[in-house]
Amino acid sequence: MALLIETEANRCLNCKVPMCQKNCPISTPIPQIIQMFKANNLQEAGKKLFENNPLSVVCATVCNHEAQCAGHCILGKKSTPVQFYSIEHFISDSFLARFKVSEIEKKNKSAAVIGSGPAGLTVAIILASNGYDVTIFERKNNIGGMLRYGIPEFRLPKSVLERYHKLLDKLGVKIRLNTTIGGAIRIDNLFRDGYSAVFVGTGAWRPRTLNIEGESLANVNFGINYLENSLHHEIGETVAIIGMGNVAMDVARTVFRHGAQRVMLFSKDNHATASSHEMSYAKLDGAEFIYGKQIVRITSEGPVFRNAVLDEDGNEIGLEGEEELFKADNVIIAISQRPKDKLILSTDHLEGTAKGLLIVDDNYMTTHEGVFAAGDVVSGPLTVVHAVNAAKKAAQSMMDYMSSK
Ligand SMILES: Cc1cc2nc3c(=O)[nH]c(=O)nc-3n(C[C@H](O)[C@H](O)[C@H](O)COP(=O)(O)OP(=O)(O)OC[C@H]3O[C@@H](n4cnc5c(N)ncnc54)[C@H](O)[C@@H]3O)c2cc1C
Ligand code: SF4
Repeated sequence: MALLIETEANRCLNCKVPMCQKNCPISTPIPQIIQMFKANNLQEAGKKLFENNPLSVVCATVCNHEAQCAGHCILGKKSTPVQFYSIEHFISDSFLARFKVSEIEKKNKSAAVIGSGPAGLTVAIILASNGYDVTIFERKNNIGGMLRYGIPEFRLPKSVLERYHKLLDKLGVKIRLNTTIGGAIRIDNLFRDGYSAVFVGTGAWRPRTLNIEGESLANVNFGINYLENSLHHEIGETVAIIGMGNVAMDVARTVFRHGAQRVMLFSKDNHATASSHEMSYAKLDGAEFIYGKQIVRITSEGPVFRNAVLDEDGNEIGLEGEEELFKADNVIIAISQRPKDKLILSTDHLEGTAKGLLIVDDNYMTTHEGVFAAGDVVSGPLTVVHAVNAAKKAAQSMMDYMSSK
């Protein structure tokens, strides 16, 4: 490992216009970090990474590097790009382990953070590091959001979240688990109880449905619901997965690890939306990809399809041929998610789009004064680094707002 990351650091050309950094959604100062690493300035490099991206250690593991830093490294044009993420992981991992809180001047103002996924964690860390009193409200019995309940353990070891829990403790962040805001406690109650600003980072947890016959049968589940608690599902030998996005790939790889022998993924088009990286791993695990099939209903025997008629771009424009049953013990639908509407329904003046996404202004403030939002609940399902990047900006706006009051 040490040899690998040293070799990678030595290969970096320290470009004047670093394409790796330009294509990182959170603009990680990649060449600068590599130079610090080479100069053995690990603590400073770790601090810089953490301040730019409090979830740097997570992003080093789960970002789509082929589409971002590595995919744009100049060396990749002729040979192998620098694997910056290995260097980033090493530095951030060691920084997190030694994280110390310096003396913080208290602002005597408190903020509520709803949701403890990447967006909520980022806001909580930034506000607490700047002297605000922070309470996280999380509806689950543990922190992490999709990092814990979506991304499988074999891709992101959950021990990293225990380390973030400790970090929050060190920063004095209070965490109230098993508490759904919009239920017994509403956003207005938070202002009543003295919070000066509220951050909503509740993600996108409502599975998109197919709206076809058979969706409520016992052999059917939705991808994120399955991943949330995969241990407690009897998955059977043959599994049909509807959808070919990244979540579908995680479902495929997870069902193999729970005993499935044959796993088929279906797309109505002639292409997948998952990254090539995720697809290649699912393929290695043995998943079969079946294109041009539009699902028409689900039976207790498995899903029923018709052939899709495709346009020149490979997108479905109609149906043809006879119905075809693909026998399967279980059918899992993984065709994206949207936010739940609990908060919008329970909060006056909090407005969302037709898809249930919260509407925010340029400062990430929602239509409700003092309530800010970022992450999947605003953008729809994206990625960890996008959630962190937006949450960083929202945290700054919250601090400006609270200090102006
Ligand atoms: C299966 C899967 C695999 C993925 N793989 C990757 C990957 O490899 N790389 C990558 O970058 N991204 C990946 N993503 C996307 C990434 O996980 C999300 O974009 C990111 O987690 C969004 O962060 P967030 O904080 O906005 O929301 P979330 O992570 O969804 O967190 C929202 C939190 O809010 C809580 N909450 C919701 N409503 C309430 C309420 N009313 N009151 C209190 N708490 C509430 C939820 O319980 C949750 O903890 C994946 C997503 C899934 C589903
Ligand atoms: S593009 Fe590649 S070689 Fe250039 S600074 Fe980035 S990692 Fe180094």
